[in-house]
Amino acid sequence: MTVASVLQAFSGACHCGAVRFTAQCDPSYSVLCDCSMCRRRNSIMLRCAESDLVIVTGRDALNEYRFNTGVAIHYFCSICGCYTFHRMRKLPDKFAINAGCLDGLDTATLRPILIEGSKN
Ligand SMILES: [Zn+2]
Repeated sequence: MTVASVLQAFSGACHCGAVRFTAQCDPSYSVLCDCSMCRRRNSIMLRCAESDLVIVTGRDALNEYRFNTGVAIHYFCSICGCYTFHRMRKLPDKFAINAGCLDGLDTATLRPILIEGSKN
């Protein structure tokens, strides 16, 4: 039996507020990843379909960073440096959202699972 995911509508922003976005995410499924990038930024992430992520303001303020295969695109605010979300390498039609950027979400209530991005 699979448990249906329950999407919730969130709004979110980088630290300085230049980048604002909305995303539909299921907070019952959150991850931490141990790849070389994620272990440095140490953000709990929620998944979001590409069609459910809308950049409201600040598209021009977003910078991107790629490494290794270049498939994943890591976005961060060029003003405050805050990581907001990234296009996922293994699921390139999905984004991982920085849970800490989401308004009204208490990240202490999340129970992230560890993704071994360093091994695959
Ligand atoms: Zn910013």
